[in-house]
Amino acid sequence: MTVHSRAARSHGQKIGFVPTMGALHPGHMSLVDWVKEQCDLAVVSIFVNPIQFDRAEDLEAYPRTWDDDLAMCAQHGVDAVYAPTAQAMYPDGFQTTVSVKQLTKPMEGAHRPGHFDGVATVVLKLFNAVLPHVAAFGSKDYQQLKVVQRMARDLDLEVEVVGRPTVREPDGLALSSRNQHLSQREREQSLCLHRALNAARRMAQDGERDAARISEEARAIIAAEPGAKLEYLEIFDAEELTPLAKLDRPTVMALAAWVGSTRLIDNMVLN
Ligand code: AMP
Repeated sequence: MTVHSRAARSHGQKIGFVPTMGALHPGHMSLVDWVKEQCDLAVVSIFVNPIQFDRAEDLEAYPRTWDDDLAMCAQHGVDAVYAPTAQAMYPDGFQTTVSVKQLTKPMEGAHRPGHFDGVATVVLKLFNAVLPHVAAFGSKDYQQLKVVQRMARDLDLEVEVVGRPTVREPDGLALSSRNQHLSQREREQSLCLHRALNAARRMAQDGERDAARISEEARAIIAAEPGAKLEYLEIFDAEELTPLAKLDRPTVMALAAWVGSTRLIDNMVLN
């Protein structure tokens, strides 16, 4: 991969990169399409990164759809797919991790120990292999986007890390590789996440500035769906990810909930 990227760079080509764990869907492909517009070469990585999983059963059950993924990449004009093995990424004796200290404390970081160290470490290694000028990440994983942006800034990486909008089903469910695990009934139950986020945004748009009141309303919507179990719901400063009492600056609401044995996350900008 690196030989290929160095050659492209020496010919003045601009490399755009979309890191993924595969089981590709239109959310991933929206990042690919955007990168194709911005750059000369589009590279996708497909690597189910073992060190970012906090539960062994989640890693094992993670969907792997290699043939479909390659077909989708070909359809969208991807120039290279980088799919290293776990052994190549983490050979015997591997012992270094990258930690972004503050941004990883709340939300996903609080509930998935080690998750963001795994993400930051693999993203840095992937950047070193692919040598991209631009890398696209989905806002679906809002905290991850902010963590990667901070890592790039703090470690002086010469990669522009760009966040792109969340792609949703027509009924509002955010596309996710994990949606494959949902039964028809759970699929319907999972819509309460989007309902809660929408209600919160509507309240903010209508002038509500009290985060506790918005949070209460959103929590009530999740609680009204017996099939869903809320893990966290936070309203926070869009840049520093610190909790907010008043919506007096750019604000995001994010949540994680279990629907059956599937863990779903989603978020929305409130103002
Ligand atoms: P993953 O394969 O889940 O690690 O995701 C790879 C990239 O695709 C990450 O930057 C995600 O944020 C992004 N992504 C996943 N789902 C969506 C979606 N529904 N809309 C936009 N981007 C997404």
